[in-house]
Formats: sequence, C-alpha cells, structure tokens
Amino acid sequence: GGSASASSIKQVKLERESELRIEVGNETPLKLRLLNGSAEIFGSELAPETWLTFPPRVKFAVFTWYGATIEMDGATETDYTADETPMVSYVNVHAVLEGRRNRAKASSPDDSEASQGPRVIVVGPTDSGKSTLSRMLLSWAAKQGWKPTFVDLDIGQGSITVPGCIAATPIELPIDPVEGIPLEMPLVYFYGHTTPSNNVDLYKTLVNELAQMLETQFSRNAESRAAGMVINTMGWIEGTGYELLLHAIDTFKANVVLVLGQEKLFSMLKAVAKSKPNVDVVKLQKSGGVVSRNAKFRQKARGYRIREYFYGLTNDLSPHSNIANFSDLLVYRIGGGPQAPRSALPIGADPVANPLRVTPVNIDRDLLHMVLSVSYAKEPDQILTSNVAGFIYITDIDIQRKKITYLAPSAGELPSKYLIMGTLTWLET
Ligand code: ATP
Repeated sequence: GGSASASSIKQVKLERESELRIEVGNETPLKLRLLNGSAEIFGSELAPETWLTFPPRVKFAVFTWYGATIEMDGATETDYTADETPMVSYVNVHAVLEGRRNRAKASSPDDSEASQGPRVIVVGPTDSGKSTLSRMLLSWAAKQGWKPTFVDLDIGQGSITVPGCIAATPIELPIDPVEGIPLEMPLVYFYGHTTPSNNVDLYKTLVNELAQMLETQFSRNAESRAAGMVINTMGWIEGTGYELLLHAIDTFKANVVLVLGQEKLFSMLKAVAKSKPNVDVVKLQKSGGVVSRNAKFRQKARGYRIREYFYGLTNDLSPHSNIANFSDLLVYRIGGGPQAPRSALPIGADPVANPLRVTPVNIDRDLLHMVLSVSYAKEPDQILTSNVAGFIYITDIDIQRKKITYLAPSAGELPSKYLIMGTLTWLET
C-alpha cells in the first residue's frame, strides 16, 4: 500500500553466505523484497523485486549465497545480519541426499532397496531448528524437480495441519516463504493431544499407520520413492520421548538421522546405529538464528494454527457455521475412558483403561470449544486406524434443544458422521 511512510523503508546489503534475521512485530505485517542479487528464505528462492508480506510474529531469515540487497517496509521486533550460519553444512547434506536420489532413480524399480531414495529424520531438542532444516531440505529437493514426502510427527507445533496430528504430504514446489506448506490433500492422523504422554500407545499406533500408508504409496510410485522423505520430529528427546524417536526411526526405516544441536542425543543415536549398518547418524550445528519459544508462545501459536485452518492465514477462507442435532453426530474418543470399577472386573484383573479403546462420547457442555476431527472411518471399529478428512470446532451446545453448532471449513454435510475427540481446544479470538 502507498500509505507507508518513506521512513519505514529500509535497505539491507547482505554479503555472501550471510543472512538477515527478522522477527516481525506483534501487531503489523512486514513487507520485504529482493532488490538485487539472489537470496532465499529457508531454501525457497526469492523472485526479484517482488514484495512479500509477512504476517505479525513470524520469525525467519533471508539468506544469500552470493550477496543481495533486501528492502523492508514495516516495523520489526528485531532484525539483524549474521555472517555465521550453518548453511554450508546443511547444503552439503542436501548434496549427499541428491546423490542418493539420483542413484535410486537410476536403479531398477523392481529392486525395492536400491530404488528407495533417502529417508531422512531430523531430531533434536525443542528450538533447535528441526522444522526449519526439514523445510530447507524439502525446498532444495523440490527446486531440483524431486517430489519428496514431508512427514511431520510434531504434534505440538506441526507445520502441515492443526496441532495434535501427525501428517504427511508430497512437496512438489519449494515451500512458499509466507504461506508455508500447501494444505492440499495431506494424509492426516488425529492424535488429539499436544503432548505424546497423554497416550503413548495411540501415538505409536498412528505412527505405524502413517508409515504403512506411505509404504503402500511408495510401492506404487517410483518417483516419490526415489525422492524419499524428510521426517520432522518432536523436541521431546528424554525418556519416553527418546523411545518414540527410536520407534519413528525404525517404523519409517529412516536411513539418515540428522541430529541438531545436542551432543548427548547424537552419541546415544550413534551407539544405537552401530547395529544398523545402513543408518547414518549425522551431527549438525544449530543455527544461532533459531528463536526460542516459551510454553506460552507455543500455546498461542497452536491457537493461531487452528485459526489458520478455518479462516486462512489472511482471513482468506470463509468457514461455515452449521447446526446439527445431537443425534446426527457420533463422537468418539480413544483411550482414557472411564475405568471400570474393580468390583466389575474378573478377580485379579487390573482396572487399567485400554489406551486404544474407542468409546462413544455423550454430547454435553464438555464439547464446547473442542476441535474434533472428522474420520474417514466407515465403521466405528475403523476409527482407531483411519486417517481424517478435516476438523470442526464446536461453538455452541444447546442441551435443551439438543442442538450443536459447529464451525466447518465449508457448508454442507460432513464427509463422515464419525468424529474423534481428544483434548484439543481453542478459544476463538
Ligand atoms: P520445535 O521445538 O517446535 O520442534 P524446532 O526445533 O522445529 O522447534 P524451528 O521451528 O525450526 O525449531 O525454529 C524455531 C523458530 O526459529 C521458528 O519460528 C523459525 O522460523 C525461527 N528460525 C529458525 N532459523 C532461523 C534463522 N536462521 N533466523 C531467524 N529465525 C529462525
């Protein structure tokens, strides 16, 4: 817009192999463009002279390999230039992966081992830059014409869909620096909680399902098989978190493990890999630009993510408010159900709830402000292992009239009447 005053415009000259790190202000967006030279944002090249508008609070870096001049218009929380980055080591990893993809492509598709491209898993503590590195590796691969599969196992701050899910999607183009990963037809499984400790068995079950589904897709598609996958994980790396990492490495048959910013995790995984000759464990430096986010920020970010699902990043979507009868919707939950009293059980049995039991939920006020997923299951016994079509948000429960009001991405009937409830809530603001 022409309303911005000239004084808010700023030019920054970047030397080769340096980056401009930006945190957009809390209230207003930031416009930015490449004036000359070449630059990329997390692996995705900037088109010359084209303004990009970044929404408030976004944190990112503009990196240049050979030098560039960047122009910014708007307020930032911080912006500074850094000439020490781990980008050369990251792009070296990319080059190794490219070699493996080319070898896989050149192999006979009948040789299921040799025709399989790299399966990369990125691990590390919270705020080590896992999502960012995943994104760069995917964008660099897409730029070369590959269609790698992005697998996001991070139920806290995932980048494919709403929190509480694990998901996968093919990446066909470098990831848009503003829009992020396109939401076209991802393969999504609903876990329903933002921490895996709520139901570790369910988390593992869904990881197994997702891996199996991708295995089937890969067996039919030599192109995506050769491109391989990049798997982003959670920052939970102690105790059960560590166990879940090992589970993910095995389940997805990862053959490249990239460890960001933690010596201890690296040496533990290195030791484990001794018994797995075709798994390479590589230590990578964490970027000094990665911004730490506290629990409150993460909580807020989850809310924005849910809002984005329904309304779009820039309010460009129009979700629809629907009213249904209680009897129209069948809500289920997985595990955590009320335990049978000891007196109702056979002698000696423990009153432990089955974490994978699917139980119907009575519709009451407890559902208010919950985000539910719409399962692709055709029968209740398929709910546990089915992926989901999308999400609805409960905005009103009228107990007297037995009516439920919910927000859905569009009007009309839901793709299925089976809904799954977890503990994912949202307060629309
Ligand atoms: P989580 O703990 O959620 O798994 P993570 O390890 O995946 O986090 P990222 O999400 O990659 O970490 O990075 C954290 C934040 O830092 C993000 O907002 C990201 O955009 C920002 N960031 C990463 N690298 C840079 C950089 N070089 N300059 C500026 N900001 C950056």
